Amino acid sequence: MDDPRKERLIRAIAQAVIDHADELTALDQAIGDGDHGLNMQRGFAAVLADLPALAAKRLPDMLKGIGMTLVMQVGGAAGPLYGTLFLELGKTMPEQPERDDLVAAFGAAIRAVMARGKSEPGQKTMLDVLVPAQAALAEGADAARLKIVAAEAAARTVPMRAIRGRASFLGERSIGHMDPGARSSQLMLAALADAVEQAA
Ligand code: ADP
Ligand code: MG
Repeated sequence: MDDPRKERLIRAIAQAVIDHADELTALDQAIGDGDHGLNMQRGFAAVLADLPALAAKRLPDMLKGIGMTLVMQVGGAAGPLYGTLFLELGKTMPEQPERDDLVAAFGAAIRAVMARGKSEPGQKTMLDVLVPAQAALAEGADAARLKIVAAEAAARTVPMRAIRGRASFLGERSIGHMDPGARSSQLMLAALADAVEQAA
């Protein structure tokens, strides 16, 4: 992957999150403390501000750099978790990844998030999108399919009861709203898929 391609990918992901900050805020107002939109906007604005330097790094170092920025800038529960996701992607991704390498690195990164969050799928979190998305990729999903799987997975968090994170304090009242972290994960995956489709 050359530097312009890396730059386009990161920009697409960051911009998708920033463009939907208000929606993420509204989702987090419903079942959390309403900071997810601003948290993510701040983190990805910092990523954008550092974009040329990040894109000039080797792919693994670029991913680690994004992870560090998110850990430092996002805050809340999502900051360390998304930070861990990108840091671990950077640790496991080879410089010139084949498809299998991407799937394996994504799997390792999800396991790191689960360890950090003491969480698993089914608890109404970002994992309810990340895990099915990784599984679909492992089964050979293309970009279009990945988008559908991620959107369906985010929608499936609506009827779930939150068992991790702030939303779990609401118990039954967390039912009926999409999880903000599931939505932000979906947004990132959709932006990634669009960017890959455009490059093809
Ligand atoms: P906070 O909950 O500290 O206000 P954010 O609002 O930024 O942080 O992020 C909330 C999102 O983080 C949730 O919607 C959920 O997807 C995710 N999350 C929270 N706790 C966990 C956890 N233990 N494991 C996985 N994801 C989690
Ligand atoms: Mg919050």
